[in-house]
Amino acid sequence: MDNTLITPANGRFGLIGLPYAQDALEPAISSTTISFHYGKHLKAYADNLSGLVAGTHFEGKNLVEIVRGSEGAVFNNAGQLLNHNLYFTEFRAPREDNRPVGRLAEAIDAQFGSFESFKDEFSKKGAGLFGSGWVWLSSDAEGKLHVTQEPNASNPVLKGLNPLITFDVWEHAYYLDYHNRRPDHIAALWQIIDWDEAEKRFLSK
Ligand code: MN
Repeated sequence: MDNTLITPANGRFGLIGLPYAQDALEPAISSTTISFHYGKHLKAYADNLSGLVAGTHFEGKNLVEIVRGSEGAVFNNAGQLLNHNLYFTEFRAPREDNRPVGRLAEAIDAQFGSFESFKDEFSKKGAGLFGSGWVWLSSDAEGKLHVTQEPNASNPVLKGLNPLITFDVWEHAYYLDYHNRRPDHIAALWQIIDWDEAEKRFLSK
């Protein structure tokens, strides 16, 4: 995993940089949603976690280590920070025929039959997750792919998996743009997945 997404600097977790302009993901994710979801929700998770770990045995540990070793408020804030850092760095401007590339594309075809079948399974798991949570594509040590639903602040690293891409299905991720139409938001997200970044994560293990 990219160390810049999980490592504290001078004892604090900061707000990661976005690899695109705030309005670049429209209409899948509006500039207004980015301003709240990234500027307010994500910043709060980073600030809360920095305060919670100060002076404890978690100080200086990276996000994956904290997620694996914590519970309660520390786990909730660390999990959400890890989830969102991976989420906000997996997008790019919309493309009409946006498809996986390279070894990850081959693995998706081999395991799910086609990209369309994979998308269908992933979208159904996102739409069907009750309450707040995340749907993930991850890989295991053998390179096998897994699509999992993770409730609340959970992350596939707890199952020993390498997280590749995720859709945030907490209402704060889409309510301003799509109101209660979660499946429509999910359908739009496929246009903005940065498959080069996903491939990089797949190859990095
Ligand atoms: Mn979120």
